[in-house]
Amino acid sequence: MLHPWLEPYFAQFVAALRQGRLPNSVIISGVEGLGGNELALAMAQYYLCHDPKEHGPCGVCRSCAAFKRLMHQDLKVAYTSTADEADNELDFTYDCSGLIARSEPTGASRRTMRIDTMRKITDFLNESPVLGGRGKVVIISGAESMLVGAANAILKTFEEPSPNSLILMVTKSLESLLPTILSRATKMVLRDVPTDQALGYLLNPANQQPVVIRRVDDEDGSAYLQEAEEARAKCPGLAQPITPPRAEIALALNSSAPLSAMRMLLDGTDLKAIAVVQQLINAIMGGDRFGNGVIQALKDLPKPLQGRLFSELILEILKYKAYVEVSQLPLIKYAGPNPEQTAQILMRLQCDHLFDAMDKLRYIEDRPPLIPARAPQAIVRAWLKAFSADLA
Ligand SMILES: [Zn+2]
Repeated sequence: MLHPWLEPYFAQFVAALRQGRLPNSVIISGVEGLGGNELALAMAQYYLCHDPKEHGPCGVCRSCAAFKRLMHQDLKVAYTSTADEADNELDFTYDCSGLIARSEPTGASRRTMRIDTMRKITDFLNESPVLGGRGKVVIISGAESMLVGAANAILKTFEEPSPNSLILMVTKSLESLLPTILSRATKMVLRDVPTDQALGYLLNPANQQPVVIRRVDDEDGSAYLQEAEEARAKCPGLAQPITPPRAEIALALNSSAPLSAMRMLLDGTDLKAIAVVQQLINAIMGGDRFGNGVIQALKDLPKPLQGRLFSELILEILKYKAYVEVSQLPLIKYAGPNPEQTAQILMRLQCDHLFDAMDKLRYIEDRPPLIPARAPQAIVRAWLKAFSADLA
């Protein structure tokens, strides 16, 4: 069950494979939450299926059965890893479940794509297939964090691929990859999902469910159903119904990517984010230069979202200045009872201040470990000062 917006890309892959014009490597590029990993998994299943049909895998062969357990002897996934994870061989593994849901590393350790991991790929692809299918597949997930060393380690495999092998590389952007890698693969760029389709996905109750991986030994699926129910009960965001305004806000704050927007709706941070904008409007209208209410609301947001929220808000103000209608600007539209009035107030902010804040936010985003955690709060205070100066 591939997400509907991924179907055209899957169809392209199937057509290329059936016509014998599939190269040995495909790079899937798209922002997080568009489903690049899920697409790679579906492509791998089709490639390895023993009896592939015109539009999809057979679903019943030994190979397809292995995919149901997210564990296939001819498919390995290269993940970014911390030093600990690499020591435990979690960097290159048969376990595909991390493509669908992967928890954050514990502690302060950061994940990277390791040179050693890349070396293991070549060895694996040179082995003969175990399940007797078309060959071997490797999925490289998180390729955007590949540095030059790791890219060079995999380059030879790209240049001289072993026969009957397929490498699927998933990256957030093509720019982050070396030209030598890019030039040797077919590139599949995932476009924005049309708003209607994305909203339809988010508003369908059947999709409003955190990802739960079904365990291999769970024969009748009863454990899965129970875990899914428990996971739902733990979602703060489901305490309130997921309405069209919430869905629009979540899409705006997640580059229109449906899967990350859904994660936001489930954990309820969309409600916290819009509360910050509401507090900001109140502070501006009340002439409150210190904005303690805004700061409090802001502290409730996860760090990366603090910057993203303001970037998105600035973008909406700039769009409004460029005569985009309020109905197209979710944060402004839902921040108060009177969207036109909200927009009119925000629009009096000078472009200088907006661009200046945008630059600062971009700077913060690019250098997360170097910037003190309080930086977004400092921006809010500077902003409110600017507002009161501009509005005076
Ligand atoms: Zn099959």
